[in-house]
Amino acid sequence: MTQPGGTGVARSRASFLSQRIAGSAGRPLRPNAKVLPEHARGHNRALVLQTLFTAGQQSRADVARSTGLTRVTVSDLVTELMAEALLVETGQRDVPRPGKPAILLDIDRSAFQIVGIDLSDSEVFRGAVLDLGGTILRRVELAIAGTVGEAALEQLFSLIESLLATVTAPLLGIGVGSPGIVDLAGTVVSAPNLHWTGLPLRAELSERFGVPVVVANDANAAVLAEHSYGDAQGDLMLVRVGRGVGAGLLLGGTLLHGSRFAAGEIGHVVVGTDGGELCSCGKHGCLETWLAAPRLEAKLGEAKRDPDPAASRTIILREAGTRLGIALAPIVGALNLGEVVLSGPDSLLGGSFIAAALETIRGRTMDRFHGGLALRLSTLGDDIVLRGAAVMVISSRLGVS
Ligand SMILES: [Zn+2]
Repeated sequence: MTQPGGTGVARSRASFLSQRIAGSAGRPLRPNAKVLPEHARGHNRALVLQTLFTAGQQSRADVARSTGLTRVTVSDLVTELMAEALLVETGQRDVPRPGKPAILLDIDRSAFQIVGIDLSDSEVFRGAVLDLGGTILRRVELAIAGTVGEAALEQLFSLIESLLATVTAPLLGIGVGSPGIVDLAGTVVSAPNLHWTGLPLRAELSERFGVPVVVANDANAAVLAEHSYGDAQGDLMLVRVGRGVGAGLLLGGTLLHGSRFAAGEIGHVVVGTDGGELCSCGKHGCLETWLAAPRLEAKLGEAKRDPDPAASRTIILREAGTRLGIALAPIVGALNLGEVVLSGPDSLLGGSFIAAALETIRGRTMDRFHGGLALRLSTLGDDIVLRGAAVMVISSRLGVS
């Protein structure tokens, strides 16, 4: 950990780091092979970092083996990364082997800190200071109580200010998970709940705070968190169920943005041909009307007055899970997804809900190709967007995730 004033050092040191854009269209999140000589150094740096980021401490020889780089190249890059304080030697390997004992290296996960922000909750703006391992070191919440527009932006500024005051290591950057549609430049194209339209949030924050900033949709942040910290594979759909319903998609290790940056926006897709409740968008029977948390809670509340409340609860949750399954089956079929992860209140999504969703997907897809689909709840809980916001910064600054 550093001394007071560390953030000043931080900026000069961080300027050595590679500048990349998190989840740039078409770019895989993780480096996975050697490239052309002119791009080699930055890419190989990221390869070395990714190996240690994923696997933890290793010797230089281990890193050379798993990256396919020569030992000389690895040694050279390690020297550079140690000079930037990103890598540290952690001691000698315990297991006795013939010859000189290997010295182990690891990413110094305390070398930098990140400010992560989650704007997706209707009641509070959440913020945290995290380390490079995604561990939350401090958190701050600000009640927003219906604050929208410019006032909500002011709230965000003060949340970030209070977090920056507690940072105790060089700051790598600020990551923000915002509701709504966010383009690749970090402009919030549309976030109806916050009354934000065309708000250049990344530009405003980086100008105001003078540090690198990454802004993305909250479900996209969440899928990155699941990818880095939740044991997910390279093909993954993460469905967030909260005030609304949205999803983030990783295909072949690449974040999918879509032609209008709205990939994964499944909440206002009508499910079924049998009508349904009126949605805020004006249509009937959108996915959100079946399973957004407030709607489900309301239905479950009414069911408490039924003669058999437990049976009614099961019927309501199974119906909601079935509707999600109907919406997901063609996506699973088209993309041949191996894994779909649900993020939201476990009390709603566990049990009958998830069981019905899986049965429905299975019943509507080809067992031979899609029968192996894993549908599970995320283990990252309420911190998923905060931790995803940190991944966005780590990915954009260091090229690893
Ligand atoms: Zn709708």
